[in-house]
Amino acid sequence: MLKEEAHSRILELRGILEENSRRYYVDNAPTMSDYEYDQLMHELEALEAVFPEFASADSPTRKVGSDLESPSEPSSREFVQRPHRYPMLSLGNTYSIEEVEEFSSRADKTLGTAFTYCCELKFDGTAICLTYRQGKLVQALTRGDGVVGDDVTENAKRISNIPLQLHGNYPEEFEIRGEVLMPYAAFDRLNELRALDDELPFANPRNAASGSLKLINPDEVAQRGLWCTLYHIPAQSLDFESHDQALRAAASWGLPVSDERRLCRNIGEIREFIDYWDVNRKNLPYATDGVVIKINEMAYQRALGYTAKSPRWAVAYKFKAEQALTPILSIDYQVGRTGAITPVANLEPVLLSGTIVKRATLVNEDQIRQLDIHEGDYVYVEKGGEIIPKITAVEPSRRKPGARVPEFPKLCPDCGTPLVREEDEAKWFCPNSDGCPMQIKGELLHFTGRKAMDILAGEATVDQLYTLGYVRTPADFYDLTMHQLMSLEGWREKSAIRFKASLDKSREVPFERVLFALGIRFVGETTAKTVARHFGDVDSLIAAGEEQLKEVPDVGDVCAKSIYDYFRDERHLIEIQRLKAHGLRFSVEEPAAAASEALEGKVIVISGTFSISRDEMKALIEKHGGKNSGSISGKTSFLLAGEKPGPEKIKKCEELGVPVIGEAAFMEMLPAEVPEAVSEGKVEQLSLF
Ligand code: NAD
Repeated sequence: MLKEEAHSRILELRGILEENSRRYYVDNAPTMSDYEYDQLMHELEALEAVFPEFASADSPTRKVGSDLESPSEPSSREFVQRPHRYPMLSLGNTYSIEEVEEFSSRADKTLGTAFTYCCELKFDGTAICLTYRQGKLVQALTRGDGVVGDDVTENAKRISNIPLQLHGNYPEEFEIRGEVLMPYAAFDRLNELRALDDELPFANPRNAASGSLKLINPDEVAQRGLWCTLYHIPAQSLDFESHDQALRAAASWGLPVSDERRLCRNIGEIREFIDYWDVNRKNLPYATDGVVIKINEMAYQRALGYTAKSPRWAVAYKFKAEQALTPILSIDYQVGRTGAITPVANLEPVLLSGTIVKRATLVNEDQIRQLDIHEGDYVYVEKGGEIIPKITAVEPSRRKPGARVPEFPKLCPDCGTPLVREEDEAKWFCPNSDGCPMQIKGELLHFTGRKAMDILAGEATVDQLYTLGYVRTPADFYDLTMHQLMSLEGWREKSAIRFKASLDKSREVPFERVLFALGIRFVGETTAKTVARHFGDVDSLIAAGEEQLKEVPDVGDVCAKSIYDYFRDERHLIEIQRLKAHGLRFSVEEPAAAASEALEGKVIVISGTFSISRDEMKALIEKHGGKNSGSISGKTSFLLAGEKPGPEKIKKCEELGVPVIGEAAFMEMLPAEVPEAVSEGKVEQLSLF
């Protein structure tokens, strides 16, 4: 490869890896499989080795993927960050047994003496570092960027198998590291609840564990069913002869250490361990993604040392994403709320990564062709970073003679309307958007969704309301009578009242969310926000031409056309009139006039928890003329400290002489209309400098 070509590929790879690392560690929503990510990382490593002139200390090959949020958004940081006493590194990894052999022969050569390996499971969760002092858990940090981590002590204390107090002959103070996991059963339960609440499910237990560990409310963490396993005491923290001995000692003090480890003397025994767990890990109640092979003797670990990113005395052998081979029983063609048709394969149920898989997406007609799917084919199913299992290949040797290629429907499977496919679209669409039951129900469900109008009507309710003919368009929800509601299966007066209350509340939903709720194609949450703010009210939006629409940031040709067309349809205009008549907001509210000027000119930072939510507290500050800020500086008027304020913030206030005010004292500063819960609190002033 030419030098220039290599340089541009190196830069490209660094960009792709940085972006996906953020999606994985910060957003907990990967879009690429781990295998693909690791292959790109190995390609970058190889290029940097051949072209060392392009090496950079900033390259993803040299630093640990960081779960810290962007430092440019300090206000979004909810946890205090603290330095690790000893860096928290990653592990070198490979998917090839030959490379494990190379690792072993390198160690043989360097050490030149007999030694042992400690082989362990590679637990697929999120790393944690615990500190115990005088037997008490005093600190829990995430890996962060390896140098500093988020302080999640209060959350770690709510993980049931992390002991708050050790027993036996524990040392005065030490650090121990491990993994926080979400067992499959807890993961399934959590995703079921999220589905009921109209929230996106977590892609896999790893993302769920990492997202849950960073929840703001420790009580919520306690309900997530997290579990911890510990596997490493840094040699600098306590002196042991071997890694295995350290783990035994930890277990004797009551710490959760896995028994699923084995001391191996050679590559043959390592292979046996790998082969055993490659099969048997499917029976474990939690996710594992490989095995870790560590040199057991501490003296030899010290002799081998570390690279910038990982120890030289350990390597992770990663299992390829689990695959299952199973036959297609039939193919359904699902109609989405936009009319897009998605083929979904019904499979002979099969166990995959701890969950039973019965269905897998076939994406679109082209994908069926590319995979060369025939009816009844045996197919390989995989779960990568994605939530929905994917069919990755067909096993042609098991194809039945005469098996036919499935015929993509010409008519909508729900309403029988001929399907259409635009030239540049990958999907077929049912154009009958106002008459196709699946599309209508999808639209209604979108309207009631949490991020839209947040009305108490899930799939089953919308289905009943549609079938009974009570609701056809969103405005019909507001015309429902108590009598109609109480006639729904399983509904009583109480549920009808709760539903009505949610309708009342929806009248306060801001215009941008109402616009999103209308379900205009290509208008997602963010676009709805920018469009609403740009035009200010629905009438100006209806009057806008395509060119004017394109002036809005983020609105391209396709989106502008879609919005324009939507408002040219008489039925949509009637619907908007009806929704307006029901009191929904169709204009951006002017910021409410300040309730008072009590906080005029004050720049306030809040920290800790309060008797009202942090968002409510911020709104209260603004309502009385104050300004919220995320970080403490010389300009800060005071820190409003709730329960358990961040110690770093308090320290900074001390350094800069910024006053710290308690919640009750703060409420005393406000003239009137103080929420009951807080007005009852006693006056308290933590400190004033
Ligand atoms: P890693 O997960 O490959 O291995 C290191 C980690 O393994 C340690 O930090 C520790 O938390 C964990 N671990 C589990 N069991 C262990 C044991 N018994 N002993 C020691 N450690 C153990 O490395 P990483 O740095 O956490 O993550 C990098 C990996 O994450 C990549 O290799 C890739 O697979 C994945 N990733 C994927 C994407 C994506 O888009 N899919 C993006 C970024 C990273």
